[in-house]
Amino acid sequence: MVLEAPARVGAPVDEIDTPALIVDLDRLEGNLARMADFTRPTGIRVRPHAKSHKCVALAKRQIQSGAVGLCAQKVSEAEPFIRAGIEDVLVSNEVVGDRKLAHLVALAAAHPKSRVGICVDDIAQVRALVAAAAEGRAKIDVYVELDVGQKRAGVEEPHEVVALAQAVTASPRLRMRGIQAYFGAAQHRRGVVERRDAIADASVKARRAKEALLAANLSCDVITGGGTGTFPYEIASGVYTEIQPGSYPLMDVDYVKNEVDVAAPRFEQALYLLATVMSRRGARATLDVGLKAQSIDCGMAQPTFPGWRPRSVHDEHAILDREGDDAGPNLALGDKVRLVPGHVDPTVNLHDWFVVVRAERVVEVWPIEARGAFF
Ligand SMILES: *Cc1c(COP(=O)(O)O)cnc(C)c1O
Repeated sequence: MVLEAPARVGAPVDEIDTPALIVDLDRLEGNLARMADFTRPTGIRVRPHAKSHKCVALAKRQIQSGAVGLCAQKVSEAEPFIRAGIEDVLVSNEVVGDRKLAHLVALAAAHPKSRVGICVDDIAQVRALVAAAAEGRAKIDVYVELDVGQKRAGVEEPHEVVALAQAVTASPRLRMRGIQAYFGAAQHRRGVVERRDAIADASVKARRAKEALLAANLSCDVITGGGTGTFPYEIASGVYTEIQPGSYPLMDVDYVKNEVDVAAPRFEQALYLLATVMSRRGARATLDVGLKAQSIDCGMAQPTFPGWRPRSVHDEHAILDREGDDAGPNLALGDKVRLVPGHVDPTVNLHDWFVVVRAERVVEVWPIEARGAFF
C-alpha cells in the first residue's frame, strides 16, 4: 500500500499525481440513487458486490442508500468491511483452506454485530467449516451455491442442495441461510433478450432447489444472485429475494457494450484513469497507465476524448495513435488525460486510492482497503 495519496483535498484535477483512479462524485451518487430508486418499490434486498470497488468509504455510501450488507469474493476482501462494522458480509464464494476458515471465524467472533456468510458446494467444505467454527465461538451463515449456468462453482441438482443443507443444519455453529444462484456469464451477454432468457432459466433452477429444501423441512430464507447486467430480471422472477450488483456505482467499458434495457436504470461512467502524456512523437502519445495501472482482460482503457485510439498496453506504458489529422486534442508532453477502464474490478485491484472529484477539484481521497491477492 502506498501510504501517501496521489492528491490532497482541495487540489485541482491537474495536480493529481498519475497514474490515478478518479471517481466523479456526482456520477457515483447518481448511480447509487438510481439503484435505490429502482429497487425500493420492489422490496428486494440489495447486497452490492464490493469486489468491484474494495473500498470501505464507498461501501458505507451503499449502505446509506439502502443496501442490506455486502458481498466480497475472498476472506481477505471481506475483512476490511467486517472490521469497519458492515453488519452482513457474504463471501460469495467457496473458501478452501483451514487457515482461511480459521481467520474468517476469528473475524466473525471478534465482530459479533456482523453476520458473516460463506458459500459451499461440497460436503468437505461443510465439514471443514464445522471444524473451524467449533474452534472459534462464532456462528457462520451458509449459502449453498447452485450452478444456474455459469459452470464455475455450485451443485446442479436439487437433491445435492438438500444434502448440503442437511449437513449445515446439523451443526449448531452454522446457520442455513439460503441459496446463491448467481449467473456471472449472463451479465455481459450483449442482447437484452439473451440476458432476460438466461435469468428466466436460472430462476426455474433456483425455484426447484428452494422447493426441494422446503419439502425436506429445511429453511431457505434468501435466494441471492444477479449482477449489474441482469438484476432487473432476478427481481422480476419473484424467486430471488436479494441481488448482488457490483459494477453499477463505477461502471466500465465492458458494461457500456451491453444493449440498454429501457426498463432498467442507466448507470453512468463514474470511474476514470488519469494519465500523463510521458512521450509525444509524431502521431503517437505514450501514457503512464500500463499493466500496473489498468487491467486489459476486457480490452484496453478508452480515451474520453476523440481523435486517439489505444494501440497497446505494456508494463508501464499505454500507447495511443492519432486517428485523424485534426480530430481531438493535440496532446502535449505533460498533459493529463482521462480514460475509461476496460474492466473495473481488476483495475481497481491495482490501485491504493480513489481520488474523489467534484467540479474539477479533489473533495476526498478514499483508501482501497480490500485490494490485493492474498486469499
Ligand atoms: C462479480 C459478482 C457479482 C457482481 O457482478 P457485476 O457484474 O460486477 O455487477 C455478484 N455476485 C457474484 C457472486 C460475483 O462473482
